[in-house]
Amino acid sequence: MIKKLLIANRGEIAVRILRACKDLGIETVAVHSTADADAMHVRLADESVCIGPAQPRESYLNVPAIISAACITGADAIHPGFGFLSENSTFSYMVKEHGLTFVGPEAEHIAMMGDKIMAKKTVARLGLPTVPGSDGAVTNIDKALKLADEIGYPVLIKAAGGGGGRGMKVARSKADFVEAYETARREAGISFGNDRVYLEKYLENPRHIEFQVIADKYGNAVHLGERDCSLQRRNQKVWEEAFSTVLTPEFRDSFGRKIAKAISELGYQGVGTLEFLYENGQLYFIEMNTRIQVEHPITEMITGIDIVREQILVASEEKLSFTQDDVKFRGHAIECRINAENAETFIPSAGTVTSYHCPGGPGVRVDSALYEGCKVPPYYDSLIAKLIIHANDREQCLARLRRALREYVIGGVDTLIPLHLKLANNPDIIAGNFNIHFLEKLTEN
Ligand code: ADP
Repeated sequence: MIKKLLIANRGEIAVRILRACKDLGIETVAVHSTADADAMHVRLADESVCIGPAQPRESYLNVPAIISAACITGADAIHPGFGFLSENSTFSYMVKEHGLTFVGPEAEHIAMMGDKIMAKKTVARLGLPTVPGSDGAVTNIDKALKLADEIGYPVLIKAAGGGGGRGMKVARSKADFVEAYETARREAGISFGNDRVYLEKYLENPRHIEFQVIADKYGNAVHLGERDCSLQRRNQKVWEEAFSTVLTPEFRDSFGRKIAKAISELGYQGVGTLEFLYENGQLYFIEMNTRIQVEHPITEMITGIDIVREQILVASEEKLSFTQDDVKFRGHAIECRINAENAETFIPSAGTVTSYHCPGGPGVRVDSALYEGCKVPPYYDSLIAKLIIHANDREQCLARLRRALREYVIGGVDTLIPLHLKLANNPDIIAGNFNIHFLEKLTEN
């Protein structure tokens, strides 16, 4: 069992992991940049180590500094959280080479799923449906054009090494394919150091639906149902729900079990999320995230399972403490990502939080690292809090969400709270009538 865990992250996810450790009786080590010296995760941890200046490259992405911090504090494990080094297979390998436990899957699985071409091939081999497209990378423009014709326009050109919603170009017709293809390759080379691209049918109006899985090293794998993350802006999720309003319990059960079986066959261990697009009653795999996700709390709310705790336990080589049949789903949950951004222009907002009042009451959970007087530095992701609501059904969940959003006060920085209030009152959202383009269209007007 892990005794002392170093958390290689910051903000609300560092606090979330700390809380799971405290519940398990595990000692905690926080690492931080100079900009985060007074941050909540530093204050709540048993020990903390400054690992460098504000710029992520020099601190939260600084592998030698993080591994040294683990060694000097006597930590026996590292949890990467999400973002930063969480999907860096070299980092996970190095952590292990130093005799430490990496709270995440094996390096080979991180690398496999980090390459989206390999991920799609693997998942297809395991019998799951994928978005129709090229069978691997396309390196030659003539072949690419021929393939695009076969797939049928519109076609999406995606970077094998892409992530975070970047590295995608749509070609609506043959006339704009060549330019889209060349631009996608060039941008992929610059952004990801890997210019391999592949083609996919561009689905016009899909939903984004993803399944949470967890597996131990003994071949036990369980799915925890799906999340609907269709409300996105620039391919970045803003609002997530569990469950989706479009899947039936029978479909969920049979598809979820198929996924769990595939994960077990792969020998995967740890938590993971398989992302799909849903159109015309079908799910098509797009990618897998091999880490804890921002939106994991909604699944925790409807299952009663502490996913981060289970993640730490399976990394400690414990057996999963529950089976698929033990998983019981209850009610509906919604998560709103409260980013420090202007709710109309989406311009990031940094500064000092001058006032802070957190909502409460039945069904309300807030995961954040905010406190009155804390700083929101300009160097990192703008996510500062997650408002998570649970209720017996979706209608009650929306009512509680509206109540909690009106109670929530964060002074001194701009936040997305006004946008979420608008969404919680929108008739189409109330009716469950939206796809991945809904939010983009709404915020353009
Ligand atoms: P990333 O790793 O950058 O998040 P994904 O493959 O997960 O990339 O895609 C991110 C988002 O882009 C999806 O949630 C969806 O909104 C959109 N997208 C991806 N593939 C397609 C596709 N084939 N057709 C339409 N939209 C897509």
